[in-house]
Amino acid sequence: MTKIAMTTPLVEMDGDEMTRILWKMIKDELILPFVDLKTEYYDLGLPYRDETNDQVTIDSANATKKYGVAVKCATITPNAARVEEYHLKEMWKSPNGTIRAILDGTVFRAPILVKGIEPNVKSWKKPITIARHAYGDVYKSSEMKIPAAGKVELVYTNEAGEEVRELVHTFDGPGIVQGMHNTEKSISSFARSCFNYALDTKQDLWFATKDTISKKYDHTFKDIFQEIYDKEYADKFKDAGIEYFYTLIDDAVARVIKSEGGYIWACKNYDGDVMSDMVATAFGSLAMMTSVLVSPEGVYEYEAAHGTVQRHYYKYLKGEKTSSNPIATIFAWSGALRKRGELDHNPALMEYADKLEQASIDTVESGIMTGDLARITTLPDVKVESSEGFIKAIAARLTDLMENTK
Ligand code: NAP
Ligand code: MG
Repeated sequence: MTKIAMTTPLVEMDGDEMTRILWKMIKDELILPFVDLKTEYYDLGLPYRDETNDQVTIDSANATKKYGVAVKCATITPNAARVEEYHLKEMWKSPNGTIRAILDGTVFRAPILVKGIEPNVKSWKKPITIARHAYGDVYKSSEMKIPAAGKVELVYTNEAGEEVRELVHTFDGPGIVQGMHNTEKSISSFARSCFNYALDTKQDLWFATKDTISKKYDHTFKDIFQEIYDKEYADKFKDAGIEYFYTLIDDAVARVIKSEGGYIWACKNYDGDVMSDMVATAFGSLAMMTSVLVSPEGVYEYEAAHGTVQRHYYKYLKGEKTSSNPIATIFAWSGALRKRGELDHNPALMEYADKLEQASIDTVESGIMTGDLARITTLPDVKVESSEGFIKAIAARLTDLMENTK
């Protein structure tokens, strides 16, 4: 079999623990035999981040801006325990946070659907993609405990020193208060990423806030989305046969549960935090969630939504067989390779990406799966495989698919 050629390198961001082990298996068994893989490699594993004072993370994000497409392995976000475990110089920031800040992107998460892993919501037939605005609101707020009676005001001072005040509340006893913000720039980037991704994936876009109650804060989100849509996207949406739909957040929740899926649901920061966990759980398994960061200029970084699967890694280090599910990481690769193929007009690469996904899904639907799926499947005859055995089973199917179209 001749290997598929690539013209532009993919930015490859390696990671940590169990997913780093899966990463190598996926490349060796599922990619390198079929693709003449070109990547620009960045080691985002924690030891090398520490060695480079996290410069490697910044470099990888800048390379992503340059080339347009990246694929990322899950990485450790250090906490106090990790600082000790890895003898770190510093408690480095979350790589995802650093990359997101440089690309100014929005994260889109979607479940991978297979027969035998049924969503808890019976009407859901197609994936629901959640887009979470990852800046501001309650995540960057300042809070105060109010000890006793008194007045709380919002004060804005402009650069000329003039003040505008707004009463929050006159307390007659102890209480609490919170001040939060967002920026037009961040909301606009979020909106553009959502509109672009909807066009890219040919799916409707839903957006919802509580603008009836929050007449300035949430209403501004609604207005910015509408303005950008009317000016820049309405015609493109019409041509693509898709729709932009705004509603109230409580109405959206009710509609989502009754829907059959197949759209993007854009959420404010808090709504996205909560709803993405709900949607992921209801679709079956965190190990089946994909994630892609999309910048407002159309730069893409693909990854799995789950972490480094630390608990499995410690078992692996003891020499025990683990059954970690590689599917979301495989789909990160297929997503990135398909996008690379699309940008480079390389149909062979796009076709390979489709087949890699098909082979993964077929393997699970044939009853061969990892332990996490075996626990929840409705299929009658199931063979639980180790990560390695599972990847080899996918490789066999992929070889068939690739040979049969020649
Ligand atoms: P996690 O790696 O997502 O794993 C949590 C649990 O979910 C696992 O223990 C496992 O359950 C199950 N699970 C997740 N992915 C699985 C897979 N592919 N196959 C089978 N089971 C899977 O989260 P964590 O253990 O809380 O975090 C570990 C590290 O990941 C942390 O250092 C965190 O900073 C990092 N993290 C990174 C990212 C990222 O890079 N995008 C995201 C989240 C977390 P059982 O143990 O019950 O089998
Ligand atoms: Mg959450």
